[in-house]
Amino acid sequence: MNKVELEKIKQKALEDKIPIIMDDTLEVVTKILKQEHPIKILEIGTAVGYSAICFSEYLSQNGWIDTIERDKDRVAEARINIKKAEVEEKINIYEGDAVEILPTLTEKYDVVFIDASKGKYPFFLKEAIRCLNKNGVIIADNILYKGYVMSDYNKHKQRTAVRNLREYIAEVTQNPDLDTQILEVGDGIAISKKK
Ligand code: SAH
Ligand code: MG
Repeated sequence: MNKVELEKIKQKALEDKIPIIMDDTLEVVTKILKQEHPIKILEIGTAVGYSAICFSEYLSQNGWIDTIERDKDRVAEARINIKKAEVEEKINIYEGDAVEILPTLTEKYDVVFIDASKGKYPFFLKEAIRCLNKNGVIIADNILYKGYVMSDYNKHKQRTAVRNLREYIAEVTQNPDLDTQILEVGDGIAISKKK
C-alpha cells in the first residue's frame, strides 16, 4: 500500500474531525491481525475508510474486508480513498444502516471490528457473535468512552451510550464462549476471542 497516500488520508480525516482509529489503538489491533492472519474481516463503521485501508495490509492472501457505513458522503469519500490506496479489490463497502445490513450477512468472519454508534453496541455484539468463525476475535473501539463508562457519570446526554457500552462489557465478560480483555488504550478497546 502507498504510505504517502495513507498519511494524506489520515491527515484529511483528522482535519475534518472524523473519529478515525487512534494510533495506539491501531497498534494493538495490528498486533492482533498479525497473530490471526484473518481471511475475512467485518467492520461496522467505515467512515472514510482509514481503518479498513490500514487493516487490509494484514489480510491473508485472497482475504477481504466487508465494511458498513450509513453516511452517503463518507461512503463516497471512502471509495475514493480505497482506490487511491490501491486496495479496492480487498475492501467491499455496504452502504446503509448496520442495524439493517448485519442481519442479512451470511458470511463468517475471523475478525469483527465494531466502531459505530455506541447505543447499538449490544445489538452489534449479537450479530458479531453470529457472524464469527471459531477462534474469531471481536474488537470494539471506544468502549470506555472518554472514561464515562467506568465513572459514576450518568446525568449526561450521552447516558444512553454509556448504558449500552456498560451492557456490552457485561455481556462479553460474562459470555462463557468468549475470552475478553478490556484495554485502556486510546478510547478503550474490548478484545473478545471466541473459545
Ligand atoms: N472505523 C473508522 C471510523 C469510524 S467512525 C476509522 O477508524 O477509520 C464511526 C462511523 O460509523 C461514522 O462514519 C458513522 O457514520 C458510522 N455509523 C454510526 N452508526 C452507524 C450505523 N448504525 N450503521 C452504519 N454506520 C454507522
Ligand atoms: Mg472509534
